Amino acid sequence: MARIAIIGLGLIGGSLGLALKQSRLRDVELVGYSRSRKTREKARRAGAIDTIAPDPASAVRDAAIVIIATPILTIRQMMEEIAPALPQDCTVTDVGSTKADVMRWAEEILPQHVSFVGGHPMAGKEQTGIDAAEAGLFEGKTYCIVPSPTARETAVNSVVGLAGLVKAVPVYMDAEEHDSYVAAVSHLPLVVSTALFSLARDSLAWPEMSQLASSGFRDVTRLASGSPEMSHDICRTNRENLVHWLNRMAQELLKYRDLIQGGDDEELLKAFARIQLERDVFIARGAQRREERAAATEPGISITDLLVGDWAGRRAREMMKGLEQESRRKDKRNGDHGRKR
Ligand code: NAD
Repeated sequence: MARIAIIGLGLIGGSLGLALKQSRLRDVELVGYSRSRKTREKARRAGAIDTIAPDPASAVRDAAIVIIATPILTIRQMMEEIAPALPQDCTVTDVGSTKADVMRWAEEILPQHVSFVGGHPMAGKEQTGIDAAEAGLFEGKTYCIVPSPTARETAVNSVVGLAGLVKAVPVYMDAEEHDSYVAAVSHLPLVVSTALFSLARDSLAWPEMSQLASSGFRDVTRLASGSPEMSHDICRTNRENLVHWLNRMAQELLKYRDLIQGGDDEELLKAFARIQLERDVFIARGAQRREERAAATEPGISITDLLVGDWAGRRAREMMKGLEQESRRKDKRNGDHGRKR
């Protein structure tokens, strides 16, 4: 029986526990620790973990894999607490929404006899805590894998295997690349959502206006209901990239203002029509990819397979084959498109 330790049993940590329990992973004990006793108890009752540890160090003792799923700025503190207790050849990973600082902390704090492989499942929702956790949260979603330069290959394969077990799709990248991309597609939407709500809420007409605010306003401001701690930690640890994209967003808004003010109605219609088409294609491709991923069934997997990484190697080869097929399909589509034009 091998041990996987999860530290932080909220939305992401709890969902990982539930998903791993529902996966075909055998011979494994899930040990969990979270700051609040109530959360720890709830996680065990919900079946997200088998055993509660009294503190982070006890959770990781004898663990083959450790998953840190606390708020980003707490990850550093967790690393400091678990470092002396980490066993030889242990694989440590995290789920933090930003990666450059986390990778630096791991290099600074974790002992050389363990491997750190950063992780970020691109899945979530605005509710937080163990009550919001669900086994299907990661299904079909991208799981960013950011190996440290000193991580053993088997450790990288183990984290790729974990991502596969929770039905996510692992994608390798480096920390800087990760942080710059998520700044645009994840962190900017968070700030835009918050800014829109605050703008409307601060209007003197809000009491009347709010009665008219319907699904469009709800959709665009959904992320403003997320955890303030998570938003704060994201802004603190991805400041430069976020500021870059906020400046670009301000310019983009001014572009639309000029278009609306300029009075060229044909140009205005064309701008909306082009973006509608491009977004529709993006949404349709995402749905198609999710269907393809859901259809690919996972084989049964033992903890030994996971730790040795053979299974992950097989999966990586399958993924490469899938990517090549997708790329051939894309080339064909582009060719067709070119001819039509
Ligand atoms: P959450 O608030 O639901 O869960 C965090 C958990 O960590 C809680 O159970 C809390 O008790 C615990 N915790 C906090 N401080 C602790 C400490 N000092 N010691 C031990 N436990 C502690 O938050 P979440 O949404 O699960 O986010 C966890 C991590 O996942 C964050 O790093 C976040 O950036 C990342 N993430 C979040 C999302 C999302 O959409 N929510 C998506 C992907 C990644």
